[in-house]
Amino acid sequence: MCGIVGVYCAEENLTSKIAYFTLYSLQHRGQESAGMAVSDGRVVELHRGMGLVTEVFDEGVLSRLKGSCAIGHVRYSTTGESKLENAQPILVKSKAGYLAVGHNGNLVNYPQLRAMLENEGRIFVTNSDTEVIAQLLSTYLMRYDVVEALELLQDKLIGSFSLTILFNDVLIGYRDELGFRPLCFGETDFGYVVASESCALDAVGAKKVRDVKPGEAVIVRDGEVEFCRIAKGERLARCVFEYIYFARPDSTIDGVSVYGARYRMGKNLAKESPVDADVVSPVPDSGTTAAIGFAEESGLRYLECLIKNRYVGRTFIMPEQRLRELSVQIKMNVVKENVSGRRIVLVDDSIVRGTTSRRIVDMVRRADAKEVHFRVGSPPIIAPCYFGIDMSTREELIASNRTVEEIRRALNSDSLSYLSLEGLLKAVGFKECELCLACLTGRYPVPVPGEEPLS
Ligand code: SF4
Repeated sequence: MCGIVGVYCAEENLTSKIAYFTLYSLQHRGQESAGMAVSDGRVVELHRGMGLVTEVFDEGVLSRLKGSCAIGHVRYSTTGESKLENAQPILVKSKAGYLAVGHNGNLVNYPQLRAMLENEGRIFVTNSDTEVIAQLLSTYLMRYDVVEALELLQDKLIGSFSLTILFNDVLIGYRDELGFRPLCFGETDFGYVVASESCALDAVGAKKVRDVKPGEAVIVRDGEVEFCRIAKGERLARCVFEYIYFARPDSTIDGVSVYGARYRMGKNLAKESPVDADVVSPVPDSGTTAAIGFAEESGLRYLECLIKNRYVGRTFIMPEQRLRELSVQIKMNVVKENVSGRRIVLVDDSIVRGTTSRRIVDMVRRADAKEVHFRVGSPPIIAPCYFGIDMSTREELIASNRTVEEIRRALNSDSLSYLSLEGLLKAVGFKECELCLACLTGRYPVPVPGEEPLS
């Protein structure tokens, strides 16, 4: 997970500020670090830091970053530790000039590519896979034009990569040929915006022109926009978890409203696994939209039984088991009068390890619920993700080696049901061959060492 943006703005004083607001609206995609690279046509300036967008940038920094093109990044690490050197954008300088890259995704063949480049004498200053992308691209740009360089890059990389790129004063957005991660393009009075999600376009009043298609680049040069087809895959592999959990519900990805998809997941879940109960409650905030769909379809009353503390920031690792137990209670509390004496249906978007779900069921039981039924708006997660989502190892996934009944017992709920794969596909509205479903099926759309490929 990460969020990326790119901005072209004719008013040089505004560019970094617009990029800031777009990054701010993508904060949910990464909270570890934030950064921005701005080109004034001669030089590319970089500013990066650890923490939230509001912690990394202030008025002074934004005023110093002047130029007509900017790219920005919020990071949630998958390859490379959470440290300043790995914060993005990554900037490299070569004979071709300045190249800054912001990357959302994860390269499966990163170790091989890095070893290859190191054998050629390249020195790496980070251990992030994005630096491999930047190094390769800067080499290609010394000899080829932007389109040819992207074609060569696409041929070399295996994995997921939506990119925003600053090449001197040219702004580029590129989405890999399988379309794992989203990328969209918008226009406004001040210029153009490329961003991971449409909510970032809305944040700065930009009108969404369209999604960048898988295998397509959008290139903004001297204020002129050009869309170029770079590659065409045999199938698509949009990450279905963007719709289930990651993306903001007010975003639209590839023509599908994230809110609408989640709402239909809840409705389909209620059709498939009805339950005799008094109240439907979301596990906040991720289960909210599916819970609304579930309540509407089932005719059960929708009530909030759990309230999330929205101001809990990044929590430190609790050193003791007793304190760890408390960590869920700090983040979430029960509304006792909504729970006491009632049969409660809790709806969440997904279950990863199951530890939080178990604690939530226990909290609701302690508040005198008569029964606690758990409903999940996606199928069981049985396999790890290699494409940019930090989902735990196979051993840590509660559903990787347990039946639904075994998981129910581990959660201590009275019943447990997951949405079927068919119900999920209907909710999202894409065919199986247009999505990545690997963490739900164990079959991967690109070769992953040690894992089963899609036939
Ligand atoms: S494995 Fe799962 S989380 Fe990862 S890209 Fe595929 S659908 Fe998304």
